[in-house]
Amino acid sequence: MSDENLGLQVKEFIVYAVGSGISYDGLVKAMIKAMYPDLNVYAERRLVKKLQALIESIRNAEKPRTPYDIPIEEAKQIIMNWRGTAYLIDNLGLPEIYEILRYSRQLGRNINFARIIVFINPWGNTAAFKMAFGENSMMEIARKNETDLIRGTDKHVHHVFRDSMDIEELISNMNRELKEYVIHLIENDLKIQDNNILIIADHGYDIECEGTMCRLCHGGDCMKPTFSLITPLVML
Ligand SMILES: [Zn+2]
Repeated sequence: MSDENLGLQVKEFIVYAVGSGISYDGLVKAMIKAMYPDLNVYAERRLVKKLQALIESIRNAEKPRTPYDIPIEEAKQIIMNWRGTAYLIDNLGLPEIYEILRYSRQLGRNINFARIIVFINPWGNTAAFKMAFGENSMMEIARKNETDLIRGTDKHVHHVFRDSMDIEELISNMNRELKEYVIHLIENDLKIQDNNILIIADHGYDIECEGTMCRLCHGGDCMKPTFSLITPLVML
């Protein structure tokens, strides 16, 4: 089984954030503030509190000891039975999951019906995900499960965001390279109201800051991997 508690908490957080009308930028700032309360970043307080509770839950969650212990069967079943568009995304962060759902609601979809299932990727990287699926490559996982494979976000995280930059620059780059990218990707599918969309990702990413300089990382690349351990499966 997936981590039901975490899944519910992530969903509850996103539905709350969408309802409060927060922007993508506002959400990123809240994530930074939740991780680094001493930083002089303006973020909505309730959102920060909810994120801090989520960070606690991720840190305290029981983690699979090895990638082979990731309970991936449930995901496999869902993917196998899926009728609709399916994407396998290499690296999908919380801000992009948020943006996809926010945008869906803007287009009239009732996101309360969206399902978010969360697994923990103990290494927070693609290698662990491939091991869990028993495949040698993401390409192979995508091929066998008939999903579109999207690798752009991971490439951006490694290239554009590997070196630290100040928070404003980070956010404007995230808008351009990540938010616009995922929205553009699924825009046509979202506009077809009765098309069901399934999104599965291998891991997320963390925002790590030293002083006011921040970068994106995942898994072993982070000092303290947290959000990057989240492997989401989103159905809408
Ligand atoms: Zn990567």
